[in-house]
Amino acid sequence: MSRQLLPDVDSRLCTLCGDCVDVCPTECLSIARDCEVVLVPQACINCAVCEAVCPATAITMRTQDW
Ligand code: SF4
Ligand code: SF4
Repeated sequence: MSRQLLPDVDSRLCTLCGDCVDVCPTECLSIARDCEVVLVPQACINCAVCEAVCPATAITMRTQDW
């Protein structure tokens, strides 16, 4: 198990606009089945650009286990 600062997406706020997917420098975010944002944690470099760009403020960087 790893512990790391990662984006936490609040699905109640997310509008699936795709902005976070577009800006992520390591392409570790995607929209799955047109219904949720999915993260590949191994590829995340904790830059928080996704959190900054989200127009719905649906992303919060949190320390998470994976
Ligand atoms: S913190 Fe950076 S690397 Fe990680 S998902 Fe967000 S934009 Fe991508
Ligand atoms: S930028 Fe925010 S609202 Fe848009 S898909 Fe990502 S988490 Fe959802």
